[in-house]
Amino acid sequence: MLPVEVLKEAADEMLDYKGSGMSVMEMSHRSKVYEGIIQEAEKDLRDLMNIPDNYKVLFLQGGASQQFAAVPMNLMKNKVADYIITGQWAKKAYQEALIYGKANAIASSADKTFSYIPDCSDLPISEDADYVYICENNTIYGTKFKTLPNTKGKTLVADVSSCFLSEPVDVSKYGLIYGGVQKNIGPAGVVIVIIREDLITEDTLPGTPTMLKYKIHADNASLYNTPPAYGIYICGKVFKWIKSMGGLAVMKEKNEAKAKLLYDFLDESKMFKGTVVKEDRSLMNVPFVTGNEELDSKFVKEAKAAGLENLKGHRSVGGMRASIYNAMPYEGVVALVEFMKKFEADNL
Ligand SMILES: *Cc1c(COP(=O)(O)O)cnc(C)c1O
Repeated sequence: MLPVEVLKEAADEMLDYKGSGMSVMEMSHRSKVYEGIIQEAEKDLRDLMNIPDNYKVLFLQGGASQQFAAVPMNLMKNKVADYIITGQWAKKAYQEALIYGKANAIASSADKTFSYIPDCSDLPISEDADYVYICENNTIYGTKFKTLPNTKGKTLVADVSSCFLSEPVDVSKYGLIYGGVQKNIGPAGVVIVIIREDLITEDTLPGTPTMLKYKIHADNASLYNTPPAYGIYICGKVFKWIKSMGGLAVMKEKNEAKAKLLYDFLDESKMFKGTVVKEDRSLMNVPFVTGNEELDSKFVKEAKAAGLENLKGHRSVGGMRASIYNAMPYEGVVALVEFMKKFEADNL
């Protein structure tokens, strides 16, 4: 979901962006106007996340999935990295890293269908690990790291695709943060990488394509080649929207209020149950089940008919999942809970 205000503004500017006589879709990415757009987007993101000066912000393509390869190609100097497996996206990143070096799965919650975050306070971190990798919010299973793992001094790398800008973050705790923007920020086609400068080097694995080298993109301020120009423009508008709401602390309060409403209902319902242990519940993705597959399908179908979209769980787990990202208003969650109450009364 994107904020309606953002979509309206983009619609207003569709044919003529601020007197330039053209749409942002038609501009040269080398034009002064476009340079202004991408620079302002970066500045607003830096403000929002309080990104320290020794970090670069890169606007790239290829989705979060391409970073599964880019991260090891750029950071695996010793060809060793430790992965914490908390769901499908972490597992895919781990499997990709195995192509390039010795990736170790040092913890996993696969034993209980990824319904919790493993204790990461004292993990067997490899002596020579180039980094420790997490997927901070597990989109499919609905878990979130509430405390970051103790990496014992090693660089932390995090995929934040589904919790990007949902709450304040201390960037200095990470070596690299990345995320596809399509979950919580903007349109598909942009991935943002926030990387500490000392990790950007010429020393990448042999065979690393030029387009996957962080240094190339950092040296060229994300304009080495044509960036996903329109997507970045929309992301910039969403950054301004979040700023106008009061920033990430306010975003967090709003997200907590929305999630509480839904989780409180799940905890008292006789029909619906959350699938994640309470301590590790995500603010963004809330999976739940009735315990009966037929009833689950009926719920998804009737919810859709009532205007409540995208409630089917990921195809790998079934059940239901409510994704209540930043742009979802509180009233949207109220409508869902009201519908669930009625469904429960009608079907129990
Ligand atoms: C959706 C998602 C991905 C995959 O993103 P693509 O941009 O489709 O490659 C990776 N990680 C997480 C956490 C996701 O939610």
